[in-house]
Amino acid sequence: MNPKWNGQFSCFDLVAKSKERSRTVVQVGDIEIGGNDFVIMAGPCAVESEDQLLRTAEAVAGAGARVLRGGAYKPRSSPYAFQGLGVEGLKLLSKAREETGLAIITEVMSEENVSLIAEYADIMQVGTRSMENYALLEALGGCGRPVLLKRGMTSTLEEWLRSAQVIAMAGNRDVILCERGIRTFETATRNTLDIAAVPVLKAVSHLPVIVDPSHAAGVRSLVPILSRAAAVVGADGLLVEVHPCPEQAMSDGQQSLNFAEFRDMMEDLQPYLAIQHAAREFRPQLVVGGYD
Ligand code: PEP
Ligand code: MN
Repeated sequence: MNPKWNGQFSCFDLVAKSKERSRTVVQVGDIEIGGNDFVIMAGPCAVESEDQLLRTAEAVAGAGARVLRGGAYKPRSSPYAFQGLGVEGLKLLSKAREETGLAIITEVMSEENVSLIAEYADIMQVGTRSMENYALLEALGGCGRPVLLKRGMTSTLEEWLRSAQVIAMAGNRDVILCERGIRTFETATRNTLDIAAVPVLKAVSHLPVIVDPSHAAGVRSLVPILSRAAAVVGADGLLVEVHPCPEQAMSDGQQSLNFAEFRDMMEDLQPYLAIQHAAREFRPQLVVGGYD
């Protein structure tokens, strides 16, 4: 562990664990993120159509999800790829909330869109590519909504917590951290899920931590087992991609679960969540020292 972590959190003091503040519970309607529940946020990578979104919303709600995910503004690595439906997508998300009671999480990519997206979203998602967009982070300080801050693709935990601190300093303490895998030399998976990040963050920060197994794995077959791992290491929930017909998805189809796969995953998670509840709370000691 980096020696700087030994109790010296001046660069991210607002989000660091302290005697006064050991846990933040982010309240979204009647959903508590960072409390005793394991909160599932699920839905398509991108909002594509009314039929796609409403069917997915019903399916994930039926399987136990509390929050519907879906991008209306998509950061794509090709300028020729589908960029999202924009405002039309936001309206469809709002309709899905009315019909199912699910809360909505959707990505905000620029500070100009913060107030528009805050009108529709219950949680503002900051994507991995935006973790260091400080103008956006500052604008989210006054948005009046909780922010789910994804880890930058090549960011250390300290850099990530500094970004969370920027949002908190700008006036918004409701920040949720989301580990979504980092870029390493490994190419067998899309990204490398840093599962140790969960207990380390739990030791140094009071913020809720959720795991996105979909963008970490890049393939749907690994999503259930990574979700299980997330539950066991003490994450507060998941952000999972689900699509009615992943083969036809306009983005991230390979890593999206279909409805039956999502239902099975949710069922398989139950015994692990029960064990996690029954187990003694794991309190890692962050030992400072050299590595042999
Ligand atoms: C997403 O959630 O669809 C997304 C674009 O994620 P990330 O920012 O982690 O790549
Ligand atoms: Mn995606």
